[in-house]
Amino acid sequence: MSEHYEKVKVQLEQMKSPAEDTGAEAEVAPAAALPASASVPASARSARRESSRTSIQPRNRSKSRSKASSRDRNANVKQDSDKSKGSSRVGSDQMLQIKGTGKILQGKAETNGSREEDKAAVGKEGGSKVVQKRRAVTVDTSKAKTSLEALKLSIKQLKWKEFPMGRRSACDIYWHGVSFHDNENIVSGQVNKFPGMIEMLRKINLSRAVRTMQELFPEEYNFYPRSWILPEEYQLFSTQIRLLKDNDSTLKPTFIVKPDSGSQGDGIYLIRDPADLRVFSGSQVKQAVVQEYIQKPLLIDKLKFDIRLYVLVRSLEPLEIYIAKEGLSRFCTEPYQEPCQKNLNHVFMHLTNYSLNVHSGNFVHSDSCNTGSKRTFSSVLYRLASKGVDIKKVWSDIIALVIKTVIALVPELKVFYQADIPPGKPGPTCFQILGFDILLMKNLKPVLLEVNANPSMRIEHEQEVSPGVFEYVPSLVDEEVKVGVIRDTLRLMDPVQRKPHISNLLGEASEEAIVVEAGSDEKAGLVESLPSLCLKQVFPKYMKQFNYLRIVERIADIFLRFLGVKGTMKLGPTGFRTFIRNCKLSNSSFTMASVDILYIDITRRWTGMVPDSREAGMGLQAFVEAFFYLAARRFKALPLREQVLSLLELCESALEGQGHVEKSRPQKQLSSLNPASAHSTAPPTLSSPAPTRRHQDDQADQTPRPSVKANVEC
Ligand code: ADP
Repeated sequence: MSEHYEKVKVQLEQMKSPAEDTGAEAEVAPAAALPASASVPASARSARRESSRTSIQPRNRSKSRSKASSRDRNANVKQDSDKSKGSSRVGSDQMLQIKGTGKILQGKAETNGSREEDKAAVGKEGGSKVVQKRRAVTVDTSKAKTSLEALKLSIKQLKWKEFPMGRRSACDIYWHGVSFHDNENIVSGQVNKFPGMIEMLRKINLSRAVRTMQELFPEEYNFYPRSWILPEEYQLFSTQIRLLKDNDSTLKPTFIVKPDSGSQGDGIYLIRDPADLRVFSGSQVKQAVVQEYIQKPLLIDKLKFDIRLYVLVRSLEPLEIYIAKEGLSRFCTEPYQEPCQKNLNHVFMHLTNYSLNVHSGNFVHSDSCNTGSKRTFSSVLYRLASKGVDIKKVWSDIIALVIKTVIALVPELKVFYQADIPPGKPGPTCFQILGFDILLMKNLKPVLLEVNANPSMRIEHEQEVSPGVFEYVPSLVDEEVKVGVIRDTLRLMDPVQRKPHISNLLGEASEEAIVVEAGSDEKAGLVESLPSLCLKQVFPKYMKQFNYLRIVERIADIFLRFLGVKGTMKLGPTGFRTFIRNCKLSNSSFTMASVDILYIDITRRWTGMVPDSREAGMGLQAFVEAFFYLAARRFKALPLREQVLSLLELCESALEGQGHVEKSRPQKQLSSLNPASAHSTAPPTLSSPAPTRRHQDDQADQTPRPSVKANVEC
């Protein structure tokens, strides 16, 4: 992006007059595109494009889409065979022969993915010379699915070794198209998916995770539209909207309803009245999220658009996040109008999904990255910069949104991780590219729409070349962005390049404001001809600004301790009792009988809310609720966040005293690090904390949630 900014600056100076909305893209085409695949000669790219033209049969598109999504859903189901992982984390391919001795050295894999550099020592007469021999990094691409073509290009650029049919011995990197479980027998190396990411990013779970953060940090998390979970919050939603309209009859809010596990706009519709909710599908109640609809998005050429940004979670512990400096902007194909009863079902006006708009007669496939219905994000920024928009501010708001969202997801991801890869057991380490969908409001504030666990990495698109005949043709803009993201993700995951980072990164974390600075902050990759990294590290780089938000992660650390390492994700009643006892939370006014009732009460309710839960017991979200309850009970006089922090400190020091080793507590000084907002009570601008969580009430009147209060002795 920094290179781009330089070019933008030059271009801006060169421009005779500010670009008009129409037709400006053509003028700025060369400058606005970040050369993500700059190292590939244009001729090679066009040759590839020619060779990748593939005719496909006419078919029913919607049918094939739903087939794909059901296949993806099936792939999400956990499989038991994962438990039969072998006992060694070291792949045989990491063995290196030492000449002269015949001795075999084995490379070691560190828990968090760092690997010792492979070395071959070559003995010489009269002295010894140590020669560092770099072997090609091996990548198993047999499960890569639709990302295969971009992946192949990336591996080629890096001069690494691809195993398209898999390999009997271990590879360094496994590239999965769908889920961590695509390949069940991996005991070493690195996999490009985290266990549980798909589950966590379903619309309901994402909303719940953000909601918990909204309760603690309403202002910091006001980038996510107010949402209600269906069916459990149907009544609440209806009541709140009725009250809102009764209070102000001029208000005409619009809501967007999204099926829980839907994607690509499938099943999404807009409503203006709760009575229009389609709660049932046949006799089944639909799981969905109903969300405040952003009525005033930023428009370009009168069209609504959203931004797809690629984010690499390189590691959970320590948390490492990178953001791609280039993304995609996906445009609607019908001019935008604020929602009214007449236009509510105009999908080409309201939904920016490529998969929908590509079927509109107005969709423009362009050979330029700056025009058409899918463009680079930098070309949009260029347009905005030319109109005087402070694009650095836009970027820094987006970076903050991304970091905060990942922080909201991490606690539950850690639970999934521990269940699948218990500490001390053989298993791979994980990283993952996520697709963040972000909308810019008219006032340029970024809003999170959703996060995709499996963002499309296709670099070709379907085109109807003659009636009923479709072809896959290369898409320049997709290639420009996605090959860079995959290639640079691989560079960052290079087992030889990866350094042990926790210690030095903690020391290096920056307290400066978020900036989009010039130059690359990483020097990964050994192939000299490659461009600088298109992925920018944002965490731990900006750790000091965001660490105070990691409260729920600390609660999750306590939860994990009492969960044990048996591959489970739910805490049993005994585990909960042990937690209370070890943290010294019971006393004469809160007996162990009350503890049991609290456990039963909360666990039963959460089991009802998550009906497909396969395991009995108290999950993390229920535990967090119990923790908030205990905090409110113990520190009645404080606001919610202070209550929770006080209880955390109490528990952590009790556990420390008992020899429980703290894994990571960078948040110890949370309250003091929390900038400005620590005691602010100003209402959020876009959304407010979720409506149903018990602690809204607790926070307001400092009394426990009624259902708990009724059952628990106080
Ligand atoms: P899907 O996973 O099906 O793509 P999204 O949550 O991304 O679901 O929503 C689809 C599209 O609907 C988005 O790309 C965006 O254009 C529009 N959209 C989603 N949520 C909102 C919202 N709260 N306000 C305005 N538009 C929205």
